[in-house]
Amino acid sequence: MSYEGKMLKDLGMPPRKDVEKALLVTLFKHNGTIKEFGSGQQIVDEIANEFGLKDKQRTAFLQTTYRKENRAKKSLLWHRLLFRAADSLAKENLVSRPSSTIRLTNKKEWMLTENGFDEALRLLRIPNTQKQFLPTRCFEVQKVIKKLTDTPRPERYNPFDNLKKTATVTRKSMLRERGFRQAIIEAYDFTCALCGMKIKSPDSLYWEVEAAHIVPHRYHGKDDVWNGLSLCRFHHWAFDVGWFTLRSDLTIEVAPKIDSLPVSEGRMGSHEVFRSILKNDLKMILPKQPNIYPHINAILWHRKNIFHSSETL
Ligand SMILES: [Zn+2]
Repeated sequence: MSYEGKMLKDLGMPPRKDVEKALLVTLFKHNGTIKEFGSGQQIVDEIANEFGLKDKQRTAFLQTTYRKENRAKKSLLWHRLLFRAADSLAKENLVSRPSSTIRLTNKKEWMLTENGFDEALRLLRIPNTQKQFLPTRCFEVQKVIKKLTDTPRPERYNPFDNLKKTATVTRKSMLRERGFRQAIIEAYDFTCALCGMKIKSPDSLYWEVEAAHIVPHRYHGKDDVWNGLSLCRFHHWAFDVGWFTLRSDLTIEVAPKIDSLPVSEGRMGSHEVFRSILKNDLKMILPKQPNIYPHINAILWHRKNIFHSSETL
């Protein structure tokens, strides 16, 4: 048995496979990424806490002698075990290495891959169908997001996907859809662009906000940031049925019919929630990067085809 192996055994350290599982789950809990261990020491402690490691196990050093240089190097055994587990996950393509992730996020961090995401969901018994609703970052989707947000905004933008075959759902189209959703809700900071509502589930897994298409999928609207808006469920619905639309200056215009809405509608108990928010000229809460703002061509289509401009209809 190697010197390192003997130390692991003598100190009763957790098996590497268990550390790999714990790493995947920790990655999931941290939204899919954790900083390179060297600079993210709190993660090292966090996983140690999960295993209930004793002080002796956390602080044990491994001495390596470099004969050539005639010097001894000390490394923390627990840290080394974690690193070996991460390295092994990378070899199995369950995580991406900091050297690859930095090209996408400009940060040296370990990130879940699609396979790693699937495995984390399996370990946590979360149905795979929930994937699209989770804001968890994963390498393949981040690649899509980078492409979506880095592409310069076109002057003459066509929000329709003319080639789209509605019946075929491919892996690529699913990644694209998740990329669209994440790019939008992250850019808008998980906030409704209309009312500013920002809330997540008590287990912190799900955000309430949705990525709304301006030209909807059923009209072959593209999964592009210029064809999207972050809206709470309530205002997503109101936008999709034409209660409001956007103007070219990104203020809102409300359907005139709101004035003849019965008093009993649009209330939550005694609160007048519908009319109190939907007011003409209200400015949308937009992302920091203007490249992500809705495109005028998508807006014009919505004004013309979805918005109820008539008082009588
Ligand atoms: Zn809202």
